[in-house]
Amino acid sequence: MWKEIVIEAKQKSVKFDFTILGSGTSQGVPIIGAEYPPEFLANPKNHRTRSSIYIETEEIRILVDTTPDLRTQVLRENIRHVDAVLFTHSHADHVMGLDDCRRFCAINGHKPLPIYANEKTMRDLERVYRYAFESPFIRGYFKPEPHVIEGAFSLGDLQITPFKQEHGSMGSLGFLFEQNGQKRLAYYNDCKKISPEATLAAERVQLVVLDALRPMEHPSHMTLDEALTAARRICADESLLSHLTDFYDHDRDSKDLPDGVLFAYDGLKRSLA
Ligand SMILES: [Zn+2]
Repeated sequence: MWKEIVIEAKQKSVKFDFTILGSGTSQGVPIIGAEYPPEFLANPKNHRTRSSIYIETEEIRILVDTTPDLRTQVLRENIRHVDAVLFTHSHADHVMGLDDCRRFCAINGHKPLPIYANEKTMRDLERVYRYAFESPFIRGYFKPEPHVIEGAFSLGDLQITPFKQEHGSMGSLGFLFEQNGQKRLAYYNDCKKISPEATLAAERVQLVVLDALRPMEHPSHMTLDEALTAARRICADESLLSHLTDFYDHDRDSKDLPDGVLFAYDGLKRSLA
């Protein structure tokens, strides 16, 4: 009897594992050629590669964005499988690692890798990686299987809703990930504003990742105050601030954050129950 109960509980638990691959702004932190106090550099949480996340469920393994640091990030986290890549937008810090996904094509049985992006981002990817889009599949090389995002879609056991975000002249997509009707994760990075629809859809989500570039005003990213306002409205179990510049010292500035709000850092992991 006891054994049956345990087995039943196990079957009902649905896996949703989440990793911050990178928590940094477009230049990364530290910035090339800048000077930092030794205490700042001594804290690994102040070393921020470019922003990206990895999600793993029983049915699907997803990478959101392919940064120039992708190779370092996946080696660091020992990631061996990616079933699909989602793109928020086509700024260099979000797309320039795509060719390194050639290994996932090989690992997946020498097959093209499904990539999901809106029309504009897909056009930019086709231009930058023309050789990969146009050539026939060659073993060992990167080959995408493009899917243009036009609305909500499903991947494995995840339902994914895209939201248009303000992000300078380019714009970007935010994503809400739901699993069996449960709001798991809202990834609202690289944005100046989160729309009322996106805010409402993510209300009381388990985990939200928010762009909080720096304390001072910026035309295409949220400031710390703007991110905290968004966090209050969304009211997630936990809010992670990301796309961070070197204005933040993780340990020094964490003390000023409200309960339930944290600075993201590279390698931060959550297993949602
Ligand atoms: Zn951007």
